[in-house]
Amino acid sequence: MNDSVFFSPAEKIFPWVLFRVPTEARIVFLTFDDGPDVHSTPQVLSILKDFRAKASFFIKGEKIPAAPGLLSQCTREGHSIGNHGFSHVPLWLRKKSFISEEIQRTNGLIHQACGLQPLLFRPPYGRFRPAMKKISEAQNLQMVLWNVDSRDYKEKTSAQDIVRNVLTSVKPGSVVLFHDSGKNVSQTIQALPAILRHLLDRGFSFSPLSELFRLKKLRENAQ
Ligand SMILES: [Zn+2]
Repeated sequence: MNDSVFFSPAEKIFPWVLFRVPTEARIVFLTFDDGPDVHSTPQVLSILKDFRAKASFFIKGEKIPAAPGLLSQCTREGHSIGNHGFSHVPLWLRKKSFISEEIQRTNGLIHQACGLQPLLFRPPYGRFRPAMKKISEAQNLQMVLWNVDSRDYKEKTSAQDIVRNVLTSVKPGSVVLFHDSGKNVSQTIQALPAILRHLLDRGFSFSPLSELFRLKKLRENAQ
């Protein structure tokens, strides 16, 4: 049976949110939230490089001033940069003006750090409400959640758990949630090589998400 043509209830209710990429191609979109972190982000980047894997980093605005060089390193090495709000407060119940400000501020800082205008937005904790469609579109951002959760943010999740959580759920087009910062990040770093090795063995490749949207926009503009 072809899984890629079946849409989950969430995808049907919120077609403007990307949970995964409907494709039969063996491509996986790895995503890392809550960085940049001067200690752990370079370790994640180095593992990705070892496996020639490209990923997407959802950046917390307030952390950029402490590590601006890491953003240009990410883009130089072929990864996507997305907006993850400024202060990482849950945005879904906040005023529209507050949400806009959080996004705009982070977009500005990302642009300052690496000259890039982000195309992707992931709300903190993956929480959103329908009004956020207009807000993100007004800033030219595609909202991205995930359909595979490594659960690496839970303190008791071991590296083995992370490996299992990901490998048992990944399918073509999956968007996988990881964190490159936080109390449990050592487990994520420990789990990553095994995950990448197994998925490569299963014929998967790893793409950044921005590329997808650039191509989509190019196609739309050409029509
Ligand atoms: Zn987060």
